[in-house]
Amino acid sequence: MSSTENLAEAIEAMREKYRVEREKRLRPDGSEQFVEIKGEFSRFGDDPFAQPLQRNSRTTSVEMVVVGGGFGGLLTAARMNAVGIKDICVIEEGADFGGTWYWNRYPGAQCDIESYVYMPLLEELGYVPTEKYAHADELFSHSRAIAEHYNLYKKALLQTRMVDAIWQEETCTWMVLTDQGDEIKARYLVLATGNLTRPKLPGIPGIEQFQGHMFHTSRWDYAYTGSDGRQDLSDLGDKKVAIIGSGATAVQVVPSIAESVAHLYVCQRTPSTIDVRGNGPTDEAWFSTLEKGWQQARIENLTNILNGMPQAEDLVADGWTDLMHKMIDAHRQSKKGVDLGVDPRRVAQYRKMEEIRSRVDSLVDDPETAEALKPYYDMFCKRPCFHDEYLPTFNRDNVTLLDTDGKGVESITETGVVVQGTEYEVDCIIFATGFEVGVSMQRRVGIDLQGVGDLKLSDKWAEGPRTMHGMHVHGFPNAFVLGGVQSTIAFNVPHHLDEQARTLARLLEHAKNHKFSRIEATQEAEQEWVDAIINDGQKVSMPGQDPCTPGYYNNEGQSMKNGRYFRAYRGGPPRYFRKLKEWCDNGDFEGISFS
Ligand code: NDP
Repeated sequence: MSSTENLAEAIEAMREKYRVEREKRLRPDGSEQFVEIKGEFSRFGDDPFAQPLQRNSRTTSVEMVVVGGGFGGLLTAARMNAVGIKDICVIEEGADFGGTWYWNRYPGAQCDIESYVYMPLLEELGYVPTEKYAHADELFSHSRAIAEHYNLYKKALLQTRMVDAIWQEETCTWMVLTDQGDEIKARYLVLATGNLTRPKLPGIPGIEQFQGHMFHTSRWDYAYTGSDGRQDLSDLGDKKVAIIGSGATAVQVVPSIAESVAHLYVCQRTPSTIDVRGNGPTDEAWFSTLEKGWQQARIENLTNILNGMPQAEDLVADGWTDLMHKMIDAHRQSKKGVDLGVDPRRVAQYRKMEEIRSRVDSLVDDPETAEALKPYYDMFCKRPCFHDEYLPTFNRDNVTLLDTDGKGVESITETGVVVQGTEYEVDCIIFATGFEVGVSMQRRVGIDLQGVGDLKLSDKWAEGPRTMHGMHVHGFPNAFVLGGVQSTIAFNVPHHLDEQARTLARLLEHAKNHKFSRIEATQEAEQEWVDAIINDGQKVSMPGQDPCTPGYYNNEGQSMKNGRYFRAYRGGPPRYFRKLKEWCDNGDFEGISFS
């Protein structure tokens, strides 16, 4: 048999294995398997980093209210500042700016996209990240520095949640109401509420019975584990701990607490792909050579490569870009007529995943544990992970992998977790089980708007979202949405947010220059965009992928109610960003009615 026949057979056999592994994990309850943080579980959402707030309510008026003080809100404020909109009130549930980086302070938390492209506004603030992949405390303090730089603290309403926003036609303003009794009148309203905000718990039978301590990774309980995020977890020294989940969060937590606990059980349903990280301190000499405009160029370079657009140079050159180079090479080979006996993109997928699996063998001593840690699905079916200490952690005597063979933790008792029929007694259970995704905005962030004629956004979107460019909604003038619905899906999320914030700044600058006070997408323009999304929009999948193992990327493997409304603009982020830019460059902001 020729080597190409061998390869084709190996790939076919592997595809069959992927199918079997996927089947094991599909469940009829799909996303409904998770427990919402409310009622008896609401304490899992409490803020462990701040005391409850006592303050007088505020009645005021500003030019813009921004809901969300994470990177989306901060970038909005920065881009508005550049066009003279500085009277901004940020409403934020956390006690400080930072969003993701306010809440996610678990040990080992760090950005998984290179700091030089992930951390916003580095040139504007003249900031040099300390590491190629910065840790959470630095990301949090950078967020605060941005808020300082743009003078956002003075008007910000922290530890505050918007509960309602009502459009007032006579004045062309929004009346924004908060849970602290504030009434803020604003010309513009921007929703920058993020996509991964609301923690969720696994629906494991018996979860409410456990008598030990429990918390979610995005509300890390340092009062229980010991004080400092990066070093001191000394209170765990005599504790047996179970962590449930093995996604991007768990991969960072596990190696960071393993040394500190008496025993750590890692409850795994599906292993992640763990590629090389190669973190290191920033070379300041190199950094000082970067010329003005370097950050945007680097950001675009990464996004282009991750979307299969070959670049003269790979500036970031890390695990993220490696697969894409392999994909691009595979394409080139097929164009040159090299016949591998199977779709070259499949070959690239297969080779990359074999590399990931053989890395497990090279780093994990016990063959059975190593086998359980190998992912059997295509790359990018789940958020790829990069870590150099995670896999070797399973060589420690005080760490046990509890592989559930795709079934999940069977039950939780008063004293521990049950996996494949065996109970493991623990003092503490940590849920690294992720966030609500793909549910309504009302459930995710508890937000609704009342637009023209008292139309509620939740009613308008009852059958699925309807937007123009993912940012404008007919019937909701002067309100703008940042983020993922009907726009695009970028691995480097801040790039996506920044392109939208820049677009909004240009739109509002235009309105200001022409003294327009009302900005609204027309019904026709919205319909056109919705049609384009439905007919031509992209489901999120990578070239060469087979159906993916369940997870939040694919609504737990189930078709989604009105899923066609949730597609992304065809062609990926570069094409979507170009579309926004051309729309601004044309100067008339087609599809918007101004008055
Ligand atoms: P995920 O949703 O990715 O992972 C949840 C984990 O919980 C999965 O391993 C899942 O298994 C597991 N799980 C759920 N239910 C059960 C159960 N009943 N029994 C056992 N295991 C269960 O959440 P994460 O918080 O890890 O990551 C969410 C996202 O946050 C990432 O995709 C990424 O975008 C972002 N993130 C970014 C980081 C960064 O550095 N910038 C760091 C961390 C996260 P299964 O896979 O089988 O569903």
